[in-house]
Amino acid sequence: AAAGMGGGDTGSFKIDLRNVQKGQVKTRFPPEPSGYLHIGHAKAALLNYHIAQLNGGHMAIRFDDTNPAKESTEYVESIIADVQRLGIEFRPPITYTSDYFPEMLDLAERLIKAGFLYADDTPVEQMREERMDGIESKRRNRPVEETLAVWKEMVAGSAEGKKHCMRFKINMQDPNKAMRDPVAYRCNDTAHWRTGTKYKVYPTYDCACPFVDALEKVTHALRTSEYKDREAQFFWVLKAEQQVWPGLQDVDIWDYSRLSLVNTVLSKRKLTWFVETKKVDGWDDPRMPTVQGVFRRGLQLEALKEFILSQGASKNVTLQEWEKLWSINKRIIDPVCPRHTAIKDEGRVLLHLKDGPEEPEVVSVPKHKKHPPAGIKATTRTRVVWLEQEDARLISQGEEVTLMDWGNAIVESVDKDADGSVSRLEGVLHLDGDVKKTKLKLTWLADISDLVPLRLVDFDHLISKKKLEDGDDITDFVTPVSRWETAALGDPNMRTLQKGDVIQLERKGYFMVDVPLVRSGQPITLFSIPDGRQKSA
Ligand code: ATP
Ligand code: MG
Ligand code: MG
Repeated sequence: AAAGMGGGDTGSFKIDLRNVQKGQVKTRFPPEPSGYLHIGHAKAALLNYHIAQLNGGHMAIRFDDTNPAKESTEYVESIIADVQRLGIEFRPPITYTSDYFPEMLDLAERLIKAGFLYADDTPVEQMREERMDGIESKRRNRPVEETLAVWKEMVAGSAEGKKHCMRFKINMQDPNKAMRDPVAYRCNDTAHWRTGTKYKVYPTYDCACPFVDALEKVTHALRTSEYKDREAQFFWVLKAEQQVWPGLQDVDIWDYSRLSLVNTVLSKRKLTWFVETKKVDGWDDPRMPTVQGVFRRGLQLEALKEFILSQGASKNVTLQEWEKLWSINKRIIDPVCPRHTAIKDEGRVLLHLKDGPEEPEVVSVPKHKKHPPAGIKATTRTRVVWLEQEDARLISQGEEVTLMDWGNAIVESVDKDADGSVSRLEGVLHLDGDVKKTKLKLTWLADISDLVPLRLVDFDHLISKKKLEDGDDITDFVTPVSRWETAALGDPNMRTLQKGDVIQLERKGYFMVDVPLVRSGQPITLFSIPDGRQKSA
């Protein structure tokens, strides 16, 4: 069973985890604290958590902070908060790769003495070419003492030390290029956000990851499948480390496909660009594919889990459609969210019902006909009601129409301005009329003073191109206008809506309340929630 992941259709989710000891499985989510979590990271976190749960184990968080330049406490805090928003319970303590810098310096010395590392001062560009062509560095066979001496210089951060890096001595002819003597340690002068300038040399991800996983007794390291080529390297490095570090346990790898979505960039660096150039209001802008952004847009956690787990163990990298995610979301919100009524402000027009109620009549109707817990609302019926211009234009003189949740009326006259817009309508109620026989079902609101002003906000993708190619410059593909607002009036029951509430506006779709009513006269801000159908306009 999909323990703890409630609700989602995870039946198709099968995993082929090797070396499982029930109850002993430990996974870890290893974010780099250099930005906010996006929906791709959410996939990683949810899968790590789910797989641990399926095996009666637990998941830990380890901040992978081996790159001193870009990291900060702000990001650490936002990432922890987002993991909690994802409903994930991680087992403390939260650790940092940098916690293990002392051990990793010790490790380097042991690896050197055992002949697993050599110091190399081949210039970066040349090293890249040599790795492509399978050419060994002239430093490859230097004596251990020489490498040890260089290591001391690297640790001290001296000019001589900084010319070098440490490389694993694996196999420069291996067809798998990840095995061609990858770099294990390199110097970096940048102050580290946690350890300052204490260290001058840092392990690479390839060196640090297997070591720290094993030290922390992680049993299964989940990695995205584009690292498949690096699996052999992971095991080689781990084995070398185990030989010099007694008691270091085995770690297995389980790979899954990286999430990518149409018209979307999932990269902290690119998302940072949107924030810094103010193309969006912040990391939680509803157009951002961040965890905070998609939740603010109205995505329900349950839908996100189902979407991610339904891709399950597939290793194929596929470009996913947002519509798939939003239609799962719709299936979850539609049966429960309360219904309200709104009329677009611009061009709204009055229909005078000659035999309408003399005094306003208030009737109670359910907020959701099939879901009583949504509660009831008061609907006011008056002699004069508002219609939307777009609807009014469709009405012909003498036509029988249906006023939603009320009954039929016959429209006797339609007055138009010179430009063709409807300025006034007159009619009579025909409550005996058959609502099934009318063509037009009209949204209406009583002409009363306590209607609430609404600001309906809709969005487009930030990126105008469906699938960005490697060489594409995102600045060429930023959608010129990706946010627009429509002023409207809403039924008075909307006064009590709270931030985060999800509602349906009759004939308009689903919305999430972003700013509730704070002061009389100020608009309620509602964000349109996509329903998974392709937009026609
Ligand atoms: P980005 O550049 O988008 O930040 P990253 O891999 O550098 O990606 P990390 O903070 O290192 O970011 O990622 C944390 C975890 O999330 C890693 O295990 C990584 O593999 C995983 N991850 C990142 N992006 C995706 C994605 N699009 N789909 C699935 N997993 C992802
Ligand atoms: Mg990374
Ligand atoms: Mg990255």
